[in-house]
Amino acid sequence: MVVGVLVEITNKNVDKIFDYLVPEEYQANIKIGIRVKVPFATRILEGFILEIKKETTHAKNLKEILGLLDEDVILNEELLELGKKMQEMTLSSLIYCYQSMLPKSLKAGGKNKASKKYEQVFFLKKEPDENLNDRQKELLKCFQDGPKRQKDLPNISLARIKLLVAKGYLEQQQQEVYRGSIQKGTKIKYPLTDAQQKVVDEIEKSSDAVFLLHGVTGSGKTEVYMELIENAIKKGKQSLMLVPEISLTPQMIERFSARFGTRIALLHSALSDGEKYDEWRRIERGEVDIVIGARSAIFAPLKSIAYIIIDEEHSDSYKQENNPRYDAKEIAKIRGQYHCAKVIMGSATPTLESYARAKKNVYHLLYLPNRVGGGTLPHVNIIDMNEEMKKVKGHFSKPLINALDRTLKKKEQAILLLNRRGYSSFVTCKNCGFVLKCPTCDITLTYHKSSHIVRCHYCGYGTTLPKVCPECHEEAIKDLGVGTEKIEEELKSYFPSARILRMDFDTTNKKGSHEKMISLFGNQQADILLGTQIVAKGLDFPNVTLVGVINADTSLNIPDFRSSEATFSLLSQVAGRSGRSIKKGEVYLQTYNPSHYAIRYAASNDYFSFYEQEMKNRYLMKYPPFYYLVNVKILSKDEKLCYQESLKVKNVLHKYLKETTILGPSPDSIYKVSNIYRYRIILKYKSEKMLNEILNRLILHYARTGKVKVEVDFNPVHL
Ligand code: ADP
Ligand code: ZN
Repeated sequence: MVVGVLVEITNKNVDKIFDYLVPEEYQANIKIGIRVKVPFATRILEGFILEIKKETTHAKNLKEILGLLDEDVILNEELLELGKKMQEMTLSSLIYCYQSMLPKSLKAGGKNKASKKYEQVFFLKKEPDENLNDRQKELLKCFQDGPKRQKDLPNISLARIKLLVAKGYLEQQQQEVYRGSIQKGTKIKYPLTDAQQKVVDEIEKSSDAVFLLHGVTGSGKTEVYMELIENAIKKGKQSLMLVPEISLTPQMIERFSARFGTRIALLHSALSDGEKYDEWRRIERGEVDIVIGARSAIFAPLKSIAYIIIDEEHSDSYKQENNPRYDAKEIAKIRGQYHCAKVIMGSATPTLESYARAKKNVYHLLYLPNRVGGGTLPHVNIIDMNEEMKKVKGHFSKPLINALDRTLKKKEQAILLLNRRGYSSFVTCKNCGFVLKCPTCDITLTYHKSSHIVRCHYCGYGTTLPKVCPECHEEAIKDLGVGTEKIEEELKSYFPSARILRMDFDTTNKKGSHEKMISLFGNQQADILLGTQIVAKGLDFPNVTLVGVINADTSLNIPDFRSSEATFSLLSQVAGRSGRSIKKGEVYLQTYNPSHYAIRYAASNDYFSFYEQEMKNRYLMKYPPFYYLVNVKILSKDEKLCYQESLKVKNVLHKYLKETTILGPSPDSIYKVSNIYRYRIILKYKSEKMLNEILNRLILHYARTGKVKVEVDFNPVHL
């Protein structure tokens, strides 16, 4: 017997299937999709069996596989096929595609091997009879309704149970148990509003494959998802729901687990490897009806999917930023086709791409224009900081301070957003202007006040903040950025007795700390929730009547064609946190660009006008959704070589791609990361037949020569 194995080497040059002989002892257990250990050159590697061949002519020269790693299939037929499509779409190596589908402990060559966890269970084998005493008969009764573990029977010693095993009345077995599954809550279900019911009916009756649910914040989209999922469960079908980041949506998870109990798998980045392995196994075995997770959960091995829901579809987290650069929304469509499932993308601020497709009936458009319960959207005030900064010191305008004051007096709550997108809190010398930079990346270091450390957000380099300037040796180093800590201090000086919760990556990186803060705030044990983008997402607190944005426009300054869209979306989302119950809400946006259309339309909650205006800009600038983009990256440790080869790449592209606008090469937005220089070439096209083939040839050519590395990013979310 011969098998074809894809080994764990990511170099595109070795991205091939290699044949191995299977020794007699393993032949009975060989399946496509399991992992094996194989000799490869001088090493021992792991890989996936992709083919089983009865005979080959060259069998005599083949090496033998060294062992099997799995009893059960890891990559089923659907995932094997999906991986091949991903490879075509991303031009990544096939092994990369498969590896990215799997939890760490199931990857080929995955370091921390998690394994099944077993517990002893005992079950009844023989009915009690005269040979037993009364106490023993009593004990056997406990097993009549099913198998038990010792810890299910708290007052009974293991010795007593084992005695009954020895006598043949009980049998002992190892049973697989799962770590960290979620707990059952109490069921809450609202009768749907007419608007919600209409959306549910329309989705259920339609034969379309992809839906875009455009619903304002608080319009009851989540409730719609849950209804669809429940109806599907009744038909024995499963659903998959993607959220931008699980740890940011504890309230939504609570609602799901309250309604659906334990038949949910949560694929959470904070799970241990063992827990992830167990969740994967539960899904594989068909023991759950719903899988909820972030981007990579799109690969959950469900067998009979009815719905694939992409909540907050505008989130850029659905695109993976490193190899393989796949888009979970595209993967959703492929899996949807395989399962005849419906894909539903939901958002209050859909991406321009999705909305344009919906308008052309490529997606089935659904709209929920109103909040549940007739609540109105909050009134939004734009504060012109150009004027305000003449009157006050610090970062708070008079109107925002007054609004905070009123809110606190009414015993209501406020959420404050510090927009850190595109915002660098760099450290500089007041004397000579020297700016602290990462030694290996072309980027300024960020100061973390609580630990007194400056850190590079790209490579992770960190060092203590120097007292004197490395350049002029004066003691004049100063942190120029505004962090949440600084804002908190300022806030305390205005409202000394207010209870402030600060939420950012520093305060929420411990497991469970974010949930704790949310429940504190929900229980009204704090008055003001101050945070970064984290506070803009999915939170639902009825007592919040004020939302303030300290700096609405820092994200407008990012040199990226999506910066207006990202700003509009963020402001709309955060504004939607205010006034979600009968209490009326207010929003204050502090900005230096009060007339910018992204700010104005976010303030008037006018998605449609924003869409029209932004589409005009995209058309003029030849950007998506009118044109497709590819970012071709050329990477090397050698700066000069990197540029020279970039020019050659450009020439090749010019020669073969006749329908494409080719821009560059130019330095990438971050020119150097971990001492690797980066150039990029941007391609804009509507349709270009040869594109994938040419790009693939370039990648292969450079993988072979090793001079520089070429990577491609189709439909990049950021430029
Ligand atoms: P979205 O996902 O669109 O932001 P949600 O589904 O979170 O909206 O609903 C907003 C709020 O309204 C939540 O507090 C939710 O519990 C409540 N809600 C949703 N649907 C109903 C309904 N049919 N009846 C009563 N309350 C509802
Ligand atoms: Zn760095």
